Amino acid sequence: MEVSFTREARMLRLGAGETFHGEGILAITKALLQAGVSYVGGYQGAPVSHLLDVLVQSRAYLNELGVHVEACSNEASAAAMLGASIHYPMRGAVTWKSIVGTNVAADALSNLASPGVIGGALIIVGDDYGEGASVVQERTLAYALKSSLLLFDPRPDLAHMVRMVDEAFALSEAANTPAMLQLRIRACHVRGSFACKDNVAPALSRHHLLEQPAGFDYERIPHPPATYRHEKRKHGERMPAARQFIVRRALNEVFAGPRDELGIIVLGGLYNSLVRALQQFGLADAFGASAVPILVLNVVCPLVPEEIGGFCAGKRAVLVVEEGQPEFVEQEILAILRRQDVAARIHGKDVLPMAGEYTIEVIGRAIAEFIARAAPDLPPDAGREWLRALDARRRAAAAALPAALPLRPPQFCIGCPERPVFAALKLAQQDIGPVHVAGDIGCHSFATFEPFSIGHTILGYGMGLASRAGVSPAMQRRTLAVMGDGGFWHNGLLTGVQSALFNAGDAVLVILKNGYTSATGTQEILSSPDGAQAADAEDAGASRVHRSRVIESTLAGIGVKWLRSVNSYDVAAMRRAFDDAFTTDFQGLKVIIAEGECQLERQRRVKPWRARLRRAGKRVVRVRYGVDEDACSGDHSCIRLSGCPALTLKASPDPLRVDPIATVIDGCVGCGLCGENVHAAALCPSFYRCEVIENPHWRDRLAASLRRAVIGLLQPA
Ligand code: SF4
Ligand code: SF4
Repeated sequence: MEVSFTREARMLRLGAGETFHGEGILAITKALLQAGVSYVGGYQGAPVSHLLDVLVQSRAYLNELGVHVEACSNEASAAAMLGASIHYPMRGAVTWKSIVGTNVAADALSNLASPGVIGGALIIVGDDYGEGASVVQERTLAYALKSSLLLFDPRPDLAHMVRMVDEAFALSEAANTPAMLQLRIRACHVRGSFACKDNVAPALSRHHLLEQPAGFDYERIPHPPATYRHEKRKHGERMPAARQFIVRRALNEVFAGPRDELGIIVLGGLYNSLVRALQQFGLADAFGASAVPILVLNVVCPLVPEEIGGFCAGKRAVLVVEEGQPEFVEQEILAILRRQDVAARIHGKDVLPMAGEYTIEVIGRAIAEFIARAAPDLPPDAGREWLRALDARRRAAAAALPAALPLRPPQFCIGCPERPVFAALKLAQQDIGPVHVAGDIGCHSFATFEPFSIGHTILGYGMGLASRAGVSPAMQRRTLAVMGDGGFWHNGLLTGVQSALFNAGDAVLVILKNGYTSATGTQEILSSPDGAQAADAEDAGASRVHRSRVIESTLAGIGVKWLRSVNSYDVAAMRRAFDDAFTTDFQGLKVIIAEGECQLERQRRVKPWRARLRRAGKRVVRVRYGVDEDACSGDHSCIRLSGCPALTLKASPDPLRVDPIATVIDGCVGCGLCGENVHAAALCPSFYRCEVIENPHWRDRLAASLRRAVIGLLQPA
């Protein structure tokens, strides 16, 4: 892991009397240590990667406290780690990205929730929902409901979120039930401050070891007949205990307001957006004082019927602000009020959209509708004017544009080693014909966008090979599965490779070995190159990914017989490897390992190394590619084969050629793909390779002078 979190790691050491200033996710990380957590684990993913990254880099300090931290191989192993809290009074926390991570962890979560815990068990899920999300749009609440987990959705305020971490551990212990703390993207990134407490060294830890394991207790095993009793206890004992705790500790908050005949029930994570929307209508101030009373549900599961009924009693109408679908909370509120004969009219998904992120504008439109239906006496003019102005601005922007702006899909980084693999695949398909491509999760999923548009399906992280199992037998041509090295270790090795070998699957798998789980923030994996290997500065510019052979030896060890390693940037060799894999007589799994270090990681290492050399007055060479503008015909086939953002267009300097020509801008990192494509695809000869030399030797200067002189002689006078 190359990104340094030194500053963040320092902030974890803050103690009583000091103030933390920073982002929500780091505040939660600090809160875990203040709560006396014994062990922490997880699998990185937006928007909670930061938590695990910071803790992994703070191992030395955590060792001082006695806290164990583990970078788990996937979310299932993280959830299983919480098994420590089933028998032992140890607080543990794990983290991952939801909903995908929760899907992976589901088996362990069910088996954890069934016997329950005695030590506080907390799962911090990054809720990747809404605009900017990168996963399927589903709700974590569904898991909490089906497994009877506690679910916190705290109001985004640092001091409050830190308190909720403490309360979540305490509630987990009081109800013998694992708790989830859902952090929306905005809650992760909200900034603020809170008064710190000292970190608490856990009572059971590496420094205070257990003398004996717990005694055997069949009630802690999720096997029948214990499971029948577990199910009864969940609803007969644990959830009632949780509801009592929630009321006793006032975990949900009521903000009173003068318009008592109305009310709003909001899930905690949406509170800030709600208040901002109310402000536009003149119904709240910047500090949250609202004309309409608000019930903030910091705990979304379980709901407390008495709280819901008490808040709604005597009100004419209540708006429920609940993002996503189905509207679990709204439905439960309706059932609670019906049972209690509370007559308040409930509005929710009738004025709010069923799907999509609840931005301030979306909530504002719902408030306008709510007011129109439930309180027409309220003066909504300011809000309506604000919404009209937003519409007018959109119309004006649309009118000012000659046409709709072109889409700007996400892209591989400049010089990414995965881009050449898909360029080669495009070329290989000219030889072998179109193939079914089972895609996967990772940076390589950018290949589904232009100019590649490669990949028929994506079924999950590490699922590429498994997801072609039903297609292969029905296809004349072999199928191709794509997998990253991150996905390989996450679960692709077992769900894909092992299954294909066991079932004698005749498929082709390309593993993009860039050395890291790049898509989640370039975290290290089992096959990452050893950081110590780059210690000597002279070597720091070289690719390190080739040095690890763990994936190759693992594949050979479990019986892969057809295995090729190819340099990603060698497009011609990669094309030949694809051709061979698709046409060989060998029946069985064929694996191509595309080796090329993640360019993002490489640049993080290379740039400071070059800067040091430059400062020391040493010779620095940077490779760049360019396009000869006299030779470029303007057909842009190079761009269609590459998609590198550094390879773009500019106006032709020749007045007789009206089409724009290709050009390479300064961001080029000299990966070489432009040159490779020219040869592999037999494109026009307009590309050139050059070396930009800083602090040149006398030999460089002499060579440059000679070159200039020869060119001068050849130029017409
Ligand atoms: S992070 Fe690395 S692997 Fe991912 S697109 Fe960028 S260079 Fe490629
Ligand atoms: S050589 Fe071409 S593909 Fe590679 S970074 Fe430069 S412009 Fe991009």
